[in-house]
Amino acid sequence: MSSVKFNIDNTFQVELPSDPERQNSRRQVKNAAFSYVKPKKATAPLLIHASEEVGQLLGLSKEDLDSDEFLQLFVGNTIYQGTEPYAMCYAGHQFGNWAGQLGDGRAINLFEVVNDQKRWAVQLKGAGETPYSRNADGLAVLRSSVREHLCSEAMHALGVPTTRSLSLILSGDMVNRDMLYDGHPALEKGAIVCRVSPSFVRFGNFEIFAAQQDKENLVKLLDHVIHHFYKDITSEGAQKYLDFFSQLCDRTLDMVIHWQRVGFVHGVMNTDNMSALGLTIDYGPYGWLEPYDEDWTPNTTDRQHRRYRYGQQGKIALWNLYQLANALFTVIGETEPLQEILENYEDKYEPAFNKMMLSKLGIFTINEDDVKLVDDVREVLQLSETDMTIFFRNLSFVNSKTTFGKFNEIIEPAFYKLEEIKGEILIKWQLWFESYAFRLQKETLSYVERMEKMNSINPKYVLRNYMAQLAIDAADQADYSIIFELYELLKKPYAEQPDHQKWFAKRPEWARHKVGCSMLSCSS
Ligand code: AMP
Ligand code: MG
Repeated sequence: MSSVKFNIDNTFQVELPSDPERQNSRRQVKNAAFSYVKPKKATAPLLIHASEEVGQLLGLSKEDLDSDEFLQLFVGNTIYQGTEPYAMCYAGHQFGNWAGQLGDGRAINLFEVVNDQKRWAVQLKGAGETPYSRNADGLAVLRSSVREHLCSEAMHALGVPTTRSLSLILSGDMVNRDMLYDGHPALEKGAIVCRVSPSFVRFGNFEIFAAQQDKENLVKLLDHVIHHFYKDITSEGAQKYLDFFSQLCDRTLDMVIHWQRVGFVHGVMNTDNMSALGLTIDYGPYGWLEPYDEDWTPNTTDRQHRRYRYGQQGKIALWNLYQLANALFTVIGETEPLQEILENYEDKYEPAFNKMMLSKLGIFTINEDDVKLVDDVREVLQLSETDMTIFFRNLSFVNSKTTFGKFNEIIEPAFYKLEEIKGEILIKWQLWFESYAFRLQKETLSYVERMEKMNSINPKYVLRNYMAQLAIDAADQADYSIIFELYELLKKPYAEQPDHQKWFAKRPEWARHKVGCSMLSCSS
């Protein structure tokens, strides 16, 4: 008797055309939204961690998560009754170039569940080859799976729109990876993450139909997404698709502003990694800003041009939206209204960014000339390595009566090279501080109110790159305690959590140039 029960309600595979070919061979797929595939059997699955919270979203109890049935389902060894797994077909622009068909090369969609009136698509990442695997194996290694599992949930707790992660399971099989693409392949433990999201449709799903001049299916896909996930759109015809595009632009902008707020750098903002719902998706070589550096990207594959650096994420999202607009042109037939929506994004971005940065500074009643305070803090933060998370968190201790000496004491823990904070740099800090303290006089919130508000905007704990790496190194030795610890810690990123104070610290020196901490590639 099975105990793990789902309220299955598949829509993507019911409403959109499937690839008639059922052979799992790598190929170009035409005029189909997905291909049926079966996950690979895992030799010796072992559950490392499951999220009770995500389990609940799907209607699962704690006992369900501990069951063998759960393990076998979410490692891909058994298929839930009456369901048929599939891989999605999509295209994309990668690093600024059209890459043609990509598709779920190592993601396999299991089914959709409706629970508590919410729809959840459930997908395995790393469960084996699909027609879209190109020259790769469809598998994922432990390190990238730990990173995806922890970060998805940490981002959710931070209030950043994101896909979720239900489980992290070792497959028991080894996977060959050349981690830095430098000719040193090695065997690593294979793992499978079960991702959960209302939908996994990406910009690239629209792009592929446009590239195939397949207007009929492009419309079907648009209707599917709008019907289920943009329920307030009531317009019809071209206007309906324009309304969708406009809302998606807003959602994407909102997502990127959240990334900037918490110091998250996605690392691979290709259009195949951009969600049609404005969610953060595909946790690969992402990273967290430690020293505030707008030019920083964790992705070594992007080292030369730094296309996806922190300071450029807003512009890149817009570039990606332009590619989506080009795809939508196929059904809209005019450029002007699309152009107008894109210009609207451009107009909104700077004010939204500045408003967010001012809120990090604890300034909530905004005047036009406050922008200078933001511009100046961005500059001064980059004069000498200054930890973004610690700086903003500690700033809530500053008020309009704080002296410069006290201010220095408050932000000192954020400096990586304290010996550099003198001369010119110290003068610049002082100038900024003086205008900041002066400006704070105009804020009307009480000290406590302001602090509380700031502490709900500036997280105390984020998944610093070295923290994930510590969890990975231990997990590699079959010690999963840090994964559990970080998962619990990051569920409350804005809370003080005195027992976990050790994680409120600058990146240790050993992590400065360590692979996995400051250098990550797309190899996963
Ligand atoms: P990413 O850069 O991770 O978003 O991946 C880009 C494309 O490569 C997507 O179509 C992925 O599904 C595919 N891909 C990445 N890694 C693998 C892998 N190990 N096996 C098969 N396909 C992969
Ligand atoms: Mg991807």
